[in-house]
Amino acid sequence: MTRLRFAPSPTGYLHVGGVRTALFNWLFARKTGGQFILRVEDTDQERSTKAYEQEIYDSLRWCGLLWDEGPDIGGEYGPYRQMERHEKGYYRDAAQRLLENKRAYYSVARVADPKTEVLRSDRYPEGYSEEEYLIAVKFAVPQGTTCFHDLLKGDLRFENQTIDDFVILKSSGIPVYNFAAVVDDTMMRITHVIRGEDHISNTPRQIMLYQALGLELPVFMHLPLILGADKTPLSKRHGGTSVEFFRKEGYLSEGLMNYLALLGWNVKQEVFQPLQELEDFYLESISNKSVVFDYKKLEWINGKHVRSLPVGTFSTLFKEWIDRYRKAYPEIAELIVRQPQGRVERILLAGQEKVNTFVQLLPLLRPLLAEADVLQYDEKWTEKYLKKPETPALLEKFEREFSKNPIDTYEKIKSIFDRNIEESGLSTNQVYQTLRGALTGSLVSLGLIETVDFLGREEVLKRIHNALALLKV
Ligand code: GLU
Repeated sequence: MTRLRFAPSPTGYLHVGGVRTALFNWLFARKTGGQFILRVEDTDQERSTKAYEQEIYDSLRWCGLLWDEGPDIGGEYGPYRQMERHEKGYYRDAAQRLLENKRAYYSVARVADPKTEVLRSDRYPEGYSEEEYLIAVKFAVPQGTTCFHDLLKGDLRFENQTIDDFVILKSSGIPVYNFAAVVDDTMMRITHVIRGEDHISNTPRQIMLYQALGLELPVFMHLPLILGADKTPLSKRHGGTSVEFFRKEGYLSEGLMNYLALLGWNVKQEVFQPLQELEDFYLESISNKSVVFDYKKLEWINGKHVRSLPVGTFSTLFKEWIDRYRKAYPEIAELIVRQPQGRVERILLAGQEKVNTFVQLLPLLRPLLAEADVLQYDEKWTEKYLKKPETPALLEKFEREFSKNPIDTYEKIKSIFDRNIEESGLSTNQVYQTLRGALTGSLVSLGLIETVDFLGREEVLKRIHNALALLKV
C-alpha cells in the first residue's frame, strides 16, 4: 500500500508551494488507494508556534486535503506532531542505535563557543557540566558517495566528503529535521517522499541515515519550486503567498487548488476540479520544469469556478466568508449583517456573473447596501455624465417613470429603460451610465436593472432626487 505524507513546519503561514506539495501527495495517495498522513515538524521550538500550526490545519481542511490517520482528538484525526513523538523517545532510541554502531558520537562544545568541538566521544561524556557545555549527538558521515534515484531528476550522486558530520540530536535531546524525518518516514512506513526541490541537498544526509540504520529507502520525488515573475522562489516580495492570504482575498478553494494543480501537472483541461480528477493523475504527468506563479491566471481560473457554482452555493460561501473575515472588512461586513434575512442573496446572483473573487464584490455591494445619503459620487461620473446638458431632463423623466410604473420585475424595469432610451434619442451607454452613477455613485456596478430591482422604488427615487440635487449646489 502507498503511504504518503505532508510534513510542514509550523514556523510560518502555509505557503502555496507547500499546499501544492500536499496536493500532489494527496492525489497520489487517493489515486493508488493509499494513505495520506500529516506530520507537523515542530522540533524547531524557537520558531514553531501553535498559531501557525492551527493555521496549517485550517488551511488544509479548507483546501479539502484531509489526512487519513493520526491520534484521536475527539472523533477527528489529529496530525502526528514530532514534539509528542520526541517525548515518547523514538528519536533518542534511534540515535542510541547509531551510537552503539559507532555511526554517531557525542560532540561536546563550550556554550560560549558552540562551533568548536572540545571532545568527541563514543560514550556519554561524564563530568561536563551542562551549563558550560553543549553535548549533542552527531552523525559520522562515512567516506564514499551517496546516490539515489529521483523520479523527476533522475540519478543523483553526492560526494560524501562535501558533507560534514552533522548534528542529529541537539544538546536538549531534540532531534534536527533530517534525523526526525528519517525516523518518522520509516516508522510511518512512508513509501514515497514527494517534496520541494529545496530539500534535494538534505536527501543525501537522509539516505546516509537510512543506510546506517539498515532501513529501506522510500521513493523520492523533488518538485520544482514555484517562482515569482522574476524567476526567484515565490516569496512575500512577489505578493501574497499563503493559503490564508488567498482565502482572505476571497478565492474559492476549488479555484486555488485548480491553479496549483496546473503548476506542474500536465493535464488536458485547464479548468477542472483537481480533487475529483484522479483518472488523469500519474506521477509521470508531473513535470520537472520550473513554474511561475501567475496571479492573473489564478484570478481567471477562480472566476470560472465562481461562475460554475450552483445558485445558492455562491451566496452561502460568500456569507460564510464575510463572516469569517468581519474584522478585515468591518464596514461592509456590518452593512451586510444589518440587512433583513434573504436580502443580500437577491443581489448576489448578479455579483456571481461579474466577479472573480469575493473581495471584488465588496465595492459593488457597498453602494447598494449603504444609505442613499452617504453615497459617494465618483468624479468620473460627475464630470462625464452628471454635467451633461441632457442629464437633468433625463433623470427627471426616470423619476416620473419609476414613480408611476410598476418596477417589481426585471422585464418591467427593462422595458422602462428601453422605451426611454428610444424616446430620449440618447445612446444606451449614456442613459445607462447616467442612471448607474445616480443610483450607485459609480460607473461600475452590478447590472443596472438588477440594481433598480434590488433597491426598490422608494430608494431609487431617493437616489435620483439626490443626484438632481447635486446639480443645484
Ligand atoms: N518540515 C519540512 C518542511 O517544511 C519537511 C520537508 C520534507 O517533506 O521532508 O520543509
